[in-house]
Amino acid sequence: MHAPDPHRHTALPHRRVGGLTFPAISLGLWQNFGHATAFDDQRRLVLHAVDRGIFHLDLANNYGPPPGAAEESVGRLLTGDLRAHRDELLVTTKAGYRGWPGPYGEFGSRKSLRASLDASLRRLGVDHVDVYYSHRFDPSTPLTETLGALADAVRSGKARAVGISSYSAARTAQALQVAAQIGLTLSVHQPSYSLLNRWIEQPGPDGRSLLEVCDDAQLAVVAFSPLAQGILSRRYLDGVPADSRAARGGPLRPEWLTPQALAHVRALDELARQSGRTLPRLALSWVLRDPRVTSVLVGARTVDQLDENLAALDDPPLTAAELAAVEAHAVDAGINLWGSRSSDL
Ligand code: NAP
Repeated sequence: MHAPDPHRHTALPHRRVGGLTFPAISLGLWQNFGHATAFDDQRRLVLHAVDRGIFHLDLANNYGPPPGAAEESVGRLLTGDLRAHRDELLVTTKAGYRGWPGPYGEFGSRKSLRASLDASLRRLGVDHVDVYYSHRFDPSTPLTETLGALADAVRSGKARAVGISSYSAARTAQALQVAAQIGLTLSVHQPSYSLLNRWIEQPGPDGRSLLEVCDDAQLAVVAFSPLAQGILSRRYLDGVPADSRAARGGPLRPEWLTPQALAHVRALDELARQSGRTLPRLALSWVLRDPRVTSVLVGARTVDQLDENLAALDDPPLTAAELAAVEAHAVDAGINLWGSRSSDL
Protein backbone atom coordinates (compact mmCIF):
# COMPACT_ATOMS: atom_id res chain seq x y z
CA MET A 1 0.00 0.00 0.00
CA HIS A 2 1.36 3.39 -1.03
CA ALA A 3 1.46 6.17 1.59
CA PRO A 4 0.86 9.42 -0.36
CA ASP A 5 2.89 12.56 0.36
CA PRO A 6 1.20 14.35 3.29
CA HIS A 7 1.79 17.76 1.65
CA ARG A 8 0.16 16.84 -1.68
CA HIS A 9 -2.92 19.05 -1.29
CA THR A 10 -0.92 22.25 -0.87
CA ALA A 11 1.62 21.41 -3.58
CA LEU A 12 -0.24 22.80 -6.62
CA PRO A 13 -2.42 25.82 -7.35
CA HIS A 14 -6.13 25.01 -7.62
CA ARG A 15 -8.73 26.67 -9.81
CA ARG A 16 -12.45 26.62 -9.01
CA VAL A 17 -15.36 27.20 -11.39
CA GLY A 18 -19.03 26.53 -10.73
CA GLY A 19 -19.00 23.88 -8.02
CA LEU A 20 -15.78 22.10 -8.99
CA THR A 21 -12.17 22.58 -7.92
CA PHE A 22 -9.34 21.30 -10.16
CA PRO A 23 -5.57 21.25 -9.84
CA ALA A 24 -4.04 23.63 -12.41
CA ILE A 25 -2.45 20.57 -14.05
CA SER A 26 -4.34 17.27 -14.31
CA LEU A 27 -3.26 13.86 -15.60
CA GLY A 28 -4.88 12.25 -18.63
CA LEU A 29 -4.66 8.51 -19.24
CA TRP A 30 -5.51 8.37 -22.94
CA GLN A 31 -2.43 6.84 -24.57
CA ASN A 32 0.06 5.54 -22.02
CA PHE A 33 -2.12 3.26 -19.87
CA GLY A 34 -2.84 0.34 -22.15
CA HIS A 35 -1.60 -3.21 -22.46
CA ALA A 36 1.67 -2.11 -24.10
CA THR A 37 2.80 -0.40 -20.88
CA ALA A 38 3.75 -2.48 -17.83
CA PHE A 39 1.31 -1.98 -14.97
CA ASP A 40 4.22 -1.15 -12.62
CA ASP A 41 5.18 1.80 -14.85
CA GLN A 42 1.58 3.00 -14.96
CA ARG A 43 1.31 2.65 -11.19
CA ARG A 44 4.55 4.59 -10.63
CA LEU A 45 3.34 7.47 -12.81
CA VAL A 46 -0.13 7.75 -11.28
CA LEU A 47 1.11 7.50 -7.69
CA HIS A 48 3.79 10.07 -8.43
CA ALA A 49 1.14 12.39 -9.87
CA VAL A 50 -1.00 11.98 -6.76
CA ASP A 51 2.02 12.62 -4.52
CA ARG A 52 2.75 15.79 -6.46
CA GLY A 53 -0.80 17.09 -5.87
CA ILE A 54 -2.62 16.00 -9.03
CA PHE A 55 -5.99 14.84 -7.73
CA HIS A 56 -7.74 14.77 -11.11
CA LEU A 57 -7.36 11.63 -13.27
CA ASP A 58 -9.06 11.86 -16.66
CA LEU A 59 -10.28 8.73 -18.44
CA ALA A 60 -12.70 7.58 -21.13
CA ASN A 61 -14.27 4.26 -22.01
CA ASN A 62 -11.94 3.99 -25.04
CA TYR A 63 -8.60 4.83 -23.36
CA GLY A 64 -5.85 2.23 -23.41
CA PRO A 65 -5.34 0.81 -25.95
CA PRO A 66 -7.35 -1.41 -26.13
CA PRO A 67 -10.56 0.41 -25.05
CA GLY A 68 -11.20 -0.04 -21.32
CA ALA A 69 -7.60 -0.90 -20.41
CA ALA A 70 -6.83 2.48 -18.80
CA GLU A 71 -9.94 2.27 -16.63
CA GLU A 72 -8.95 -1.24 -15.57
CA SER A 73 -5.50 0.02 -14.53
CA VAL A 74 -6.99 2.88 -12.52
CA GLY A 75 -9.46 0.40 -11.06
CA ARG A 76 -6.54 -1.68 -9.76
CA LEU A 77 -5.15 1.43 -8.08
CA LEU A 78 -8.50 2.63 -6.71
CA THR A 79 -9.10 -0.75 -5.13
CA GLY A 80 -5.44 -1.06 -4.06
CA ASP A 81 -2.91 1.70 -3.33
CA LEU A 82 -5.48 4.49 -3.54
CA ARG A 83 -8.36 2.69 -1.82
CA ALA A 84 -8.28 5.01 1.21
CA HIS A 85 -8.07 8.10 -1.01
CA ARG A 86 -10.98 7.72 -3.45
CA ASP A 87 -12.77 10.77 -2.07
CA GLU A 88 -9.72 12.99 -2.58
CA LEU A 89 -9.71 12.25 -6.28
CA LEU A 90 -11.68 13.62 -9.22
CA VAL A 91 -12.04 10.56 -11.43
CA THR A 92 -13.64 11.47 -14.74
CA THR A 93 -14.72 9.37 -17.70
CA LYS A 94 -16.52 9.75 -21.02
CA ALA A 95 -18.46 7.96 -23.71
CA GLY A 96 -18.88 8.86 -27.37
CA TYR A 97 -16.00 7.26 -29.27
CA ARG A 98 -16.07 3.58 -30.12
CA GLY A 99 -16.10 1.39 -27.02
CA TRP A 100 -17.61 -1.71 -28.63
CA PRO A 101 -18.91 -2.71 -32.10
CA GLY A 102 -22.26 -1.67 -33.52
CA PRO A 103 -24.33 1.53 -33.50
CA TYR A 104 -24.65 1.59 -29.71
CA GLY A 105 -20.88 1.30 -29.13
CA GLU A 106 -20.27 5.00 -29.80
CA PHE A 107 -21.86 8.49 -29.99
CA GLY A 108 -24.57 9.75 -27.67
CA SER A 109 -27.73 7.65 -27.44
CA ARG A 110 -29.28 7.01 -24.02
CA LYS A 111 -28.61 3.28 -24.40
CA SER A 112 -24.96 3.86 -25.23
CA LEU A 113 -24.27 6.41 -22.49
CA ARG A 114 -25.96 4.29 -19.81
CA ALA A 115 -24.27 1.04 -20.80
CA SER A 116 -20.89 2.70 -21.13
CA LEU A 117 -21.06 4.33 -17.70
CA ASP A 118 -22.00 1.03 -16.08
CA ALA A 119 -19.07 -0.68 -17.81
CA SER A 120 -16.69 2.14 -16.77
CA LEU A 121 -17.78 1.84 -13.14
CA ARG A 122 -17.24 -1.93 -13.23
CA ARG A 123 -13.71 -1.49 -14.63
CA LEU A 124 -12.91 1.29 -12.16
CA GLY A 125 -14.31 -0.68 -9.22
CA VAL A 126 -16.14 2.38 -7.85
CA ASP A 127 -19.82 3.31 -7.53
CA HIS A 128 -19.54 6.78 -9.11
CA VAL A 129 -17.33 9.00 -11.24
CA ASP A 130 -16.87 12.67 -10.48
CA VAL A 131 -17.54 13.92 -14.00
CA TYR A 132 -19.19 11.96 -16.80
CA TYR A 133 -18.79 13.49 -20.26
CA SER A 134 -20.47 13.22 -23.60
CA HIS A 135 -17.18 12.76 -25.47
CA ARG A 136 -18.49 14.20 -28.76
CA PHE A 137 -21.66 15.65 -30.20
CA ASP A 138 -23.87 13.06 -31.89
CA PRO A 139 -25.53 14.47 -35.03
CA SER A 140 -28.12 11.69 -35.15
CA THR A 141 -29.33 11.80 -31.54
CA PRO A 142 -31.37 14.74 -30.19
CA LEU A 143 -29.49 16.75 -27.56
CA THR A 144 -32.44 16.20 -25.21
CA GLU A 145 -31.64 12.47 -25.30
CA THR A 146 -27.85 12.79 -24.87
CA LEU A 147 -28.16 15.37 -22.11
CA GLY A 148 -31.09 13.47 -20.62
CA ALA A 149 -28.80 10.45 -20.26
CA LEU A 150 -26.25 12.66 -18.47
CA ALA A 151 -29.05 13.89 -16.17
CA ASP A 152 -29.98 10.26 -15.44
CA ALA A 153 -26.34 9.59 -14.52
CA VAL A 154 -26.44 12.39 -11.94
CA ARG A 155 -29.87 11.41 -10.60
CA SER A 156 -28.80 7.78 -10.19
CA GLY A 157 -25.70 8.85 -8.21
CA LYS A 158 -23.36 7.29 -10.78
CA ALA A 159 -21.90 10.71 -11.69
CA ARG A 160 -21.40 13.66 -9.35
CA ALA A 161 -21.29 16.14 -12.26
CA VAL A 162 -21.42 16.04 -16.06
CA GLY A 163 -19.80 17.73 -19.01
CA ILE A 164 -19.30 17.81 -22.75
CA SER A 165 -16.16 17.52 -24.85
CA SER A 166 -15.22 18.98 -28.24
CA TYR A 167 -18.67 20.54 -28.74
CA SER A 168 -18.33 23.77 -30.79
CA ALA A 169 -19.12 27.18 -29.30
CA ALA A 170 -22.55 27.22 -30.97
CA ARG A 171 -23.34 23.65 -29.97
CA THR A 172 -22.26 24.35 -26.41
CA ALA A 173 -24.59 27.35 -26.22
CA GLN A 174 -27.39 25.12 -27.54
CA ALA A 175 -26.52 22.35 -25.05
CA LEU A 176 -26.63 24.86 -22.18
CA GLN A 177 -30.14 25.89 -23.27
CA VAL A 178 -31.35 22.28 -23.50
CA ALA A 179 -29.72 21.48 -20.15
CA ALA A 180 -31.55 24.39 -18.52
CA GLN A 181 -34.84 23.14 -20.00
CA ILE A 182 -34.39 19.68 -18.49
CA GLY A 183 -33.05 20.93 -15.15
CA LEU A 184 -29.48 19.71 -15.74
CA THR A 185 -26.37 21.59 -14.69
CA LEU A 186 -23.50 21.18 -17.13
CA SER A 187 -20.29 21.71 -15.18
CA VAL A 188 -17.32 21.20 -17.51
CA HIS A 189 -16.26 21.48 -21.13
CA GLN A 190 -13.18 19.57 -22.28
CA PRO A 191 -11.72 21.00 -25.53
CA SER A 192 -8.34 20.63 -27.21
CA TYR A 193 -6.16 23.74 -26.86
CA SER A 194 -2.50 24.51 -27.45
CA LEU A 195 -0.12 26.96 -29.07
CA LEU A 196 -0.75 25.10 -32.35
CA ASN A 197 -4.52 24.61 -31.98
CA ARG A 198 -6.47 27.71 -30.97
CA TRP A 199 -10.02 26.95 -32.13
CA ILE A 200 -11.55 27.71 -28.72
CA GLU A 201 -10.56 31.38 -29.09
CA GLN A 202 -12.32 31.81 -32.44
CA PRO A 203 -15.76 33.46 -32.53
CA GLY A 204 -18.74 31.21 -33.26
CA PRO A 205 -21.87 32.28 -35.20
CA ASP A 206 -23.17 34.47 -32.34
CA GLY A 207 -19.78 36.20 -32.08
CA ARG A 208 -18.74 34.35 -28.94
CA SER A 209 -15.84 31.94 -28.77
CA LEU A 210 -16.08 28.69 -26.84
CA LEU A 211 -14.02 30.31 -24.07
CA GLU A 212 -16.60 33.12 -23.85
CA VAL A 213 -19.59 30.77 -23.91
CA CYS A 214 -18.04 28.72 -21.07
CA ASP A 215 -17.12 31.83 -19.10
CA ASP A 216 -20.64 33.26 -19.41
CA ALA A 217 -22.11 29.97 -18.15
CA GLN A 218 -19.47 29.34 -15.48
CA LEU A 219 -18.53 26.10 -17.20
CA ALA A 220 -15.07 24.86 -16.20
CA VAL A 221 -12.68 24.48 -19.17
CA VAL A 222 -10.33 21.51 -18.91
CA ALA A 223 -7.96 21.85 -21.87
CA PHE A 224 -6.50 18.71 -23.45
CA SER A 225 -3.41 17.98 -25.60
CA PRO A 226 -1.64 21.18 -24.45
CA LEU A 227 1.64 19.91 -25.92
CA ALA A 228 -0.08 18.94 -29.19
CA GLN A 229 0.56 15.31 -28.22
CA GLY A 230 4.30 15.99 -27.81
CA ILE A 231 4.92 18.16 -30.89
CA LEU A 232 5.42 21.11 -28.50
CA SER A 233 8.64 19.67 -27.11
CA ARG A 234 12.09 19.06 -28.60
CA ARG A 235 11.14 15.45 -29.38
CA TYR A 236 10.53 15.83 -33.11
CA LEU A 237 13.15 18.44 -34.00
CA ASP A 238 15.57 15.83 -35.40
CA GLY A 239 13.18 13.21 -36.75
CA VAL A 240 10.74 10.79 -35.14
CA PRO A 241 12.19 8.97 -32.09
CA ALA A 242 11.41 5.24 -31.94
CA ASP A 243 9.72 5.49 -28.52
CA SER A 244 7.52 8.46 -29.48
CA ARG A 245 3.78 8.64 -29.97
CA ALA A 246 4.25 9.53 -33.65
CA ALA A 247 6.25 6.32 -34.16
CA ARG A 248 3.66 4.12 -32.44
CA GLY A 249 1.07 4.53 -35.18
CA GLY A 250 -1.48 6.12 -32.85
CA PRO A 251 -3.35 9.40 -33.08
CA LEU A 252 -0.29 11.61 -33.63
CA ARG A 253 -0.02 11.55 -37.40
CA PRO A 254 3.57 11.89 -38.64
CA GLU A 255 2.29 13.94 -41.60
CA TRP A 256 1.47 16.75 -39.13
CA LEU A 257 5.23 17.18 -38.57
CA THR A 258 5.53 19.44 -41.61
CA PRO A 259 8.58 21.67 -42.16
CA GLN A 260 6.28 24.63 -41.57
CA ALA A 261 4.94 23.30 -38.24
CA LEU A 262 8.44 22.33 -37.11
CA ALA A 263 9.73 25.82 -38.01
CA HIS A 264 7.18 27.28 -35.58
CA VAL A 265 8.15 24.68 -32.96
CA ARG A 266 11.84 25.62 -33.37
CA ALA A 267 11.03 29.30 -33.02
CA LEU A 268 8.92 28.63 -29.91
CA ASP A 269 11.72 26.50 -28.50
CA GLU A 270 14.11 29.41 -28.95
CA LEU A 271 11.67 31.82 -27.27
CA ALA A 272 11.31 29.35 -24.39
CA ARG A 273 15.09 29.21 -24.01
CA GLN A 274 15.32 33.00 -24.00
CA SER A 275 12.77 33.20 -21.18
CA GLY A 276 14.59 30.56 -19.14
CA ARG A 277 12.00 27.82 -19.71
CA THR A 278 11.74 24.64 -21.69
CA LEU A 279 9.27 24.40 -24.57
CA PRO A 280 6.77 22.17 -22.69
CA ARG A 281 6.84 24.60 -19.77
CA LEU A 282 6.26 27.54 -22.11
CA ALA A 283 3.39 25.69 -23.81
CA LEU A 284 1.70 24.89 -20.48
CA SER A 285 2.19 28.40 -19.04
CA TRP A 286 0.73 29.78 -22.25
CA VAL A 287 -2.45 27.67 -21.97
CA LEU A 288 -2.79 28.56 -18.28
CA ARG A 289 -2.24 32.30 -18.95
CA ASP A 290 -5.98 32.54 -19.58
CA PRO A 291 -7.92 32.43 -16.30
CA ARG A 292 -10.89 30.94 -18.17
CA VAL A 293 -8.86 27.71 -18.52
CA THR A 294 -9.56 25.84 -15.30
CA SER A 295 -7.09 23.00 -15.69
CA VAL A 296 -4.73 21.66 -18.30
CA LEU A 297 -4.67 17.93 -18.96
CA VAL A 298 -1.21 16.58 -19.65
CA GLY A 299 -0.60 13.12 -21.03
CA ALA A 300 2.88 12.47 -19.68
CA ARG A 301 4.36 9.03 -20.43
CA THR A 302 7.17 9.15 -17.85
CA VAL A 303 7.74 10.55 -14.38
CA ASP A 304 10.43 12.86 -15.79
CA GLN A 305 8.02 14.27 -18.37
CA LEU A 306 5.41 14.85 -15.68
CA ASP A 307 7.92 16.60 -13.40
CA GLU A 308 9.04 18.83 -16.24
CA ASN A 309 5.42 19.72 -16.97
CA LEU A 310 4.66 20.46 -13.32
CA ALA A 311 7.70 22.75 -13.21
CA ALA A 312 5.70 25.15 -15.42
CA LEU A 313 3.72 26.02 -12.31
CA ASP A 314 6.91 27.32 -10.65
CA ASP A 315 7.75 29.59 -13.59
CA PRO A 316 6.86 33.29 -13.49
CA PRO A 317 3.85 34.31 -15.61
CA LEU A 318 4.70 35.11 -19.22
CA THR A 319 5.32 38.85 -19.66
CA ALA A 320 3.46 40.94 -22.22
CA ALA A 321 6.62 41.07 -24.34
CA GLU A 322 7.03 37.26 -24.18
CA LEU A 323 3.38 36.74 -25.10
CA ALA A 324 3.73 39.11 -28.04
CA ALA A 325 6.83 37.27 -29.29
CA VAL A 326 5.09 33.90 -28.96
CA GLU A 327 2.04 35.13 -30.85
CA ALA A 328 3.80 35.07 -34.26
CA HIS A 329 4.40 31.32 -33.90
CA ALA A 330 1.24 30.32 -32.00
CA VAL A 331 -0.53 29.47 -35.22
CA ASP A 332 -2.99 26.78 -36.16
CA ALA A 333 -0.98 23.85 -37.50
CA GLY A 334 -3.85 21.69 -38.79
CA ILE A 335 -3.45 19.22 -35.93
CA ASN A 336 -6.97 19.32 -34.50
CA LEU A 337 -7.78 15.64 -34.87
CA TRP A 338 -11.01 16.16 -32.97
CA GLY A 339 -12.42 18.66 -35.43
CA SER A 340 -13.57 16.11 -37.94
CA ARG A 341 -13.97 13.22 -35.48
CA SER A 342 -16.28 15.15 -33.17
CA SER A 343 -18.49 15.99 -36.19
CA ASP A 344 -19.06 19.42 -34.72
CA LEU A 345 -16.03 21.66 -35.29
P1 NAP B 1 -0.11 16.12 -24.36
O1 NAP B 1 0.43 16.47 -23.02
O2 NAP B 1 -0.28 17.19 -25.38
O3 NAP B 1 0.79 14.97 -25.04
C1 NAP B 1 1.33 13.94 -24.26
C2 NAP B 1 2.54 13.37 -24.97
O4 NAP B 1 3.51 14.40 -25.12
C3 NAP B 1 3.25 12.29 -24.15
O5 NAP B 1 2.71 11.03 -24.41
C4 NAP B 1 4.68 12.45 -24.58
O6 NAP B 1 4.86 11.83 -25.85
C5 NAP B 1 4.80 13.92 -24.82
N1 NAP B 1 5.26 14.65 -23.62
C6 NAP B 1 4.59 14.94 -22.48
N2 NAP B 1 5.34 15.66 -21.66
C7 NAP B 1 6.52 15.83 -22.29
C8 NAP B 1 7.72 16.50 -21.94
N3 NAP B 1 7.83 17.15 -20.78
N4 NAP B 1 8.75 16.49 -22.84
C9 NAP B 1 8.63 15.85 -24.02
N5 NAP B 1 7.51 15.19 -24.41
C10 NAP B 1 6.47 15.20 -23.54
O7 NAP B 1 -1.49 15.47 -24.04
P2 NAP B 1 -2.36 14.25 -24.66
O8 NAP B 1 -1.82 12.97 -24.19
O9 NAP B 1 -2.54 14.44 -26.11
O10 NAP B 1 -3.72 14.54 -23.96
C11 NAP B 1 -3.77 14.67 -22.55
C12 NAP B 1 -5.05 14.12 -22.01
O11 NAP B 1 -6.15 14.86 -22.53
C13 NAP B 1 -5.37 12.68 -22.42
O12 NAP B 1 -4.67 11.74 -21.65
C14 NAP B 1 -6.84 12.65 -22.17
O13 NAP B 1 -7.10 12.52 -20.78
C15 NAP B 1 -7.28 14.01 -22.64
N6 NAP B 1 -7.76 13.98 -24.05
C16 NAP B 1 -9.09 14.15 -24.26
C17 NAP B 1 -9.60 14.08 -25.54
C18 NAP B 1 -11.07 14.30 -25.76
O14 NAP B 1 -11.57 14.06 -26.87
N7 NAP B 1 -11.79 14.76 -24.75
C19 NAP B 1 -8.76 13.82 -26.62
C20 NAP B 1 -7.41 13.68 -26.37
C21 NAP B 1 -6.91 13.77 -25.08
P3 NAP B 1 5.72 10.51 -26.06
O15 NAP B 1 4.82 9.40 -25.64
O16 NAP B 1 6.00 10.55 -27.52
O17 NAP B 1 6.94 10.64 -25.19
